[in-house]
Amino acid sequence: MSVELGFRCSCCGRQHDELPFAYGALAPAYWQDGCEGDPDSVLGDEQCVIGGEHFFVRARLLLPVTDAAEEFEWGVWVSLSEPSFDRMTQLWTDPRRTSEPPCFGWLSTELPLYEPTTLNLKTRVHSQPVGTRPTVELEPTDHPLAVEQRTGITVARVRDIAERLLHPGGPASS
Ligand SMILES: [Zn+2]
Repeated sequence: MSVELGFRCSCCGRQHDELPFAYGALAPAYWQDGCEGDPDSVLGDEQCVIGGEHFFVRARLLLPVTDAAEEFEWGVWVSLSEPSFDRMTQLWTDPRRTSEPPCFGWLSTELPLYEPTTLNLKTRVHSQPVGTRPTVELEPTDHPLAVEQRTGITVARVRDIAERLLHPGGPASS
């Protein structure tokens, strides 16, 4: 998890020690409490299966930050077809996986702050070197998240995201 220097929060007026450049989701949006005891459902750090028929992989949705050296990362889950999921699993520790073509995936994380929902946006999932989570390329639509991935965001937007996630109810809840 990467951070920059702290920032003065326009929401609560205090100094926050860190400006996060990454946020993550621990499970796909479709993972419910009832899945815990289901023998056909499993949630791991990197992969998830629900009901033996829905297959997910953890991935990184990167947004370029035009006035910073590093990218902003939304940690997300994407839903893959069973063949794509099997192929990725088969090549999990194989260095040659970087030469795999991207595969189709449905974004399966509802990111905060976006309207309309980010759930089920179409993506292409790109394998990365062993040990690195795959990256997600959104279909180039007019969805605000797709626009941000295409054109980039600024540190001011990263700060705006931090303020709104730290104080979801506005200044009163700080
Ligand atoms: Zn604050």
